[in-house]
Amino acid sequence: MIISKKYNTDVLVVGGGVAGVSAALTAARAGVRTLLLESHISLGGLATNGYISGVAGMVEGNCKEWLERIDAEGYLFDRPHLPTFDPERAKLILEHMLLEAGVKILYGTYAIDTMVENNNIKEVICHSKSGRMAIAARIVIDTTGDADVSAFAGVPYEVGSPEFAGLNMSTTLAFRMANVNMTQYDEAVKAWMAKETADNTIPSKMSLIEELAEKALENGDLPFFIFPTALIYKVPGTPHDDADVTVITTHSFHTRNLDVEDLTRQVIEQRRQITWIEKFFRKYLAGFERSRVSGLASQHGVRDSRRIIGEYILKDEDIACGTKFEDGIARFPEFYDTHHPTSPRLGFMRHIHLKEPKGAAVCRPAQCSEEMHPFGRPGGYEARKNPGEYCEIPYRSLVPLGIDNLLVAGRCVSAEFNAVAAVRVIAPSMTTGQAAGVAAAFCLKDNIVPRNLDGTLVRRAMIGQGVPLDKKPDGYWAYLRGLKGEHVVVPGDFVGVMTSEGFKR
Ligand SMILES: Cc1cc2nc3c(=O)[nH]c(=O)nc-3n(C[C@H](O)[C@H](O)[C@H](O)COP(=O)(O)OP(=O)(O)OC[C@H]3O[C@@H](n4cnc5c(N)ncnc54)[C@H](O)[C@@H]3O)c2cc1C
Repeated sequence: MIISKKYNTDVLVVGGGVAGVSAALTAARAGVRTLLLESHISLGGLATNGYISGVAGMVEGNCKEWLERIDAEGYLFDRPHLPTFDPERAKLILEHMLLEAGVKILYGTYAIDTMVENNNIKEVICHSKSGRMAIAARIVIDTTGDADVSAFAGVPYEVGSPEFAGLNMSTTLAFRMANVNMTQYDEAVKAWMAKETADNTIPSKMSLIEELAEKALENGDLPFFIFPTALIYKVPGTPHDDADVTVITTHSFHTRNLDVEDLTRQVIEQRRQITWIEKFFRKYLAGFERSRVSGLASQHGVRDSRRIIGEYILKDEDIACGTKFEDGIARFPEFYDTHHPTSPRLGFMRHIHLKEPKGAAVCRPAQCSEEMHPFGRPGGYEARKNPGEYCEIPYRSLVPLGIDNLLVAGRCVSAEFNAVAAVRVIAPSMTTGQAAGVAAAFCLKDNIVPRNLDGTLVRRAMIGQGVPLDKKPDGYWAYLRGLKGEHVVVPGDFVGVMTSEGFKR
């Protein structure tokens, strides 16, 4: 193999999504020579290039700092839950943050292999316009989302759902629309919610869009049912009555997210869906009459592919039961965000199955349909996360088996299928990235490998960096904790609470 260029660094971060940026930032701020590779020419991955511009999870640490900087420039809609940002500005700010910290960035650089000796990655082999390059590093952090580096190095991994013959979650190519009247849209959604929850009842459909899509199908204005809801995030800084929005609603099912032919099938299929959705929105959705598609995401919305096997595999059950760990380095307060691998109608699987009610989980005897679990219908109890609880992600889930000088962060950490569906969202991806950066700096200082690092030290250092793992979540999460009432399951398998004032979620 001809190598045209060589680099040497202390920490090499592969993948410049939110997890990778957070890892590189933290390592560099600890005074460590840090190099970050990114195959695109901008940072943020799915959050920016994928137009996923609303932040789920607990905004802490580097994620909080990033959002505060976006806010200071006027490109954040800072609300208690799901703050949203302008994806183009957000990627510029990530770049500024890395450059200020002294991280060396290589764009347009694709990791394609590793050279491994004695369970250590000696070099990561990359391809770029400079040709083949070899990068030697003392610690490598894999934040490729797909655990590419780990797989090249021989780390064991899992792919897809065991309940669905290894299929991945359905995927979504997001897009951007211009000329949307958000006042009219917000009013239509509010009126629909009021109608649906009149007399304190639970909504019969997942969203206004589901109701409108049914009408469009009847009228022949949609060729088939795509998905029962859409995330529509306003781009901050655009006028409310003539806004830009990002839209997350296209879906491909039966996906194999490590197969280039299937990935190509998905993006072609979803680009076609976007043209149908544009017409559908214009005709049926209030506020969208003058709207037009103004951009297609440049990163495909792959929710999951490889999940490495690490020193601890975060269990589906840990999410439902709100498990805490001595080496907990990030936390997760939201529901399972498992997009159904095969069913456009059902949309999500917000539950797992337990033999018996356990821990903080919200349980009811199993009553899901065969359509929900077409390859085998698990019994026992359907278990959902209690909205007032949270689980932690242990440091050991970032430490892969088999390779000594490697850490993994973001959406490919060691977790079962539904657990990764939960903790893959933006805020925890950034916090696991931050913990990987902390751990890398510790390992270099003490000349040890990540496996031998005491995770409780990483936890303490994270607390020292302002991630309040030692305190109960505040703000929106404290509000949820305070909701008193009976937990109920609503369409789409959300969990809500029936309170004396009616239904809340
Ligand atoms: C459709 C969809 C909707 C979502 N909705 C939400 C939401 O509303 N809120 C929320 O908080 N989260 C949401 N998520 C989840 C969240 O956006 C992602 O899981 C999270 O951003 C993942 O961050 P990451 O850094 O781990 O991975 P990624 O963002 O995938 O970043 C990986 C980076 O590595 C680069 N890369 C990959 N392979 C290589 C390689 N071999 N060499 C060099 N570079 C490489 C990629 O170009 C990319 O920049 C959604 C995800 C999807 C797909």
